[in-house]
Amino acid sequence: MTDTMLELRSVSASYGAIQALQNVSLKVERGAIVALLGSNGAGKSTTLNAISHLIEPSAGEIHFDGQPIGRLPSDDIVRRGLVQVPEGRQVFKDMSVRENLELGAFLRKSSRREVGEDFERVYAMFPRLKERAEQRASTLSGGEQQMLAIGRALMGRPRMILLDEPSMGLSPILVEQIFEIILRLNREQGLTILVVEQDVRLALRVSSYAYILENGEMNLQGPSKQLLNDPAVRRAYLGV
Ligand code: ATP
Repeated sequence: MTDTMLELRSVSASYGAIQALQNVSLKVERGAIVALLGSNGAGKSTTLNAISHLIEPSAGEIHFDGQPIGRLPSDDIVRRGLVQVPEGRQVFKDMSVRENLELGAFLRKSSRREVGEDFERVYAMFPRLKERAEQRASTLSGGEQQMLAIGRALMGRPRMILLDEPSMGLSPILVEQIFEIILRLNREQGLTILVVEQDVRLALRVSSYAYILENGEMNLQGPSKQLLNDPAVRRAYLGV
């Protein structure tokens, strides 16, 4: 018996004349890490933006925890525990680290004590952010900004996060560190994760199941281990 946390059924979306998604369906089981892959412009970010209702799909249905969420405003979706983590460079540059994190707790209307606990949890996960709490986000390194983007999402106590290209612009060592943290969040806190990633090999290593988009359509899907060994995937996406 599977327990589906997020499901897209035949979702389509366009930007004016550009059809960005066509009949995209996918499922994420509770507690899983699922990867959404594909080349540039394939529609990965558009899929995340459709889930968070940052854009309006032209067709299809989206369910979270068994409930339709397609008509909910974005902030209601966040309140239900589904939080999108933008790429690290999209933190609020003129605010301090602490202020950025506070914003993450804002929609939850939690007590001061709860927010205090959340700060402690995030700072324990990212000691670097604690050291730099009063520093302006614009002065953080790329990796630190990515940590801040993830930390800000965690302040909302999500049950599931949508991660948009966490490795973008980071050195290999930092990418390893970020993915180590992603794995810990999944294992230790049971966080369900849908991750969009350019680094196909890495994404297939950390996820249990993966989808590959091509020109706005779902091209391939399967258990990540199987895709890692699939000759077509290896040729097209792993350069082997
Ligand atoms: P990348 O890996 O390069 O970020 P992606 O798979 O995330 O790519 P999307 O950003 O979802 O791709 O874009 C899908 C398609 O929609 C592309 O052809 C893109 O040019 C187009 N597109 C995305 N955003 C807009 C927009 N705001 N206005 C017009 N077209 C857009």
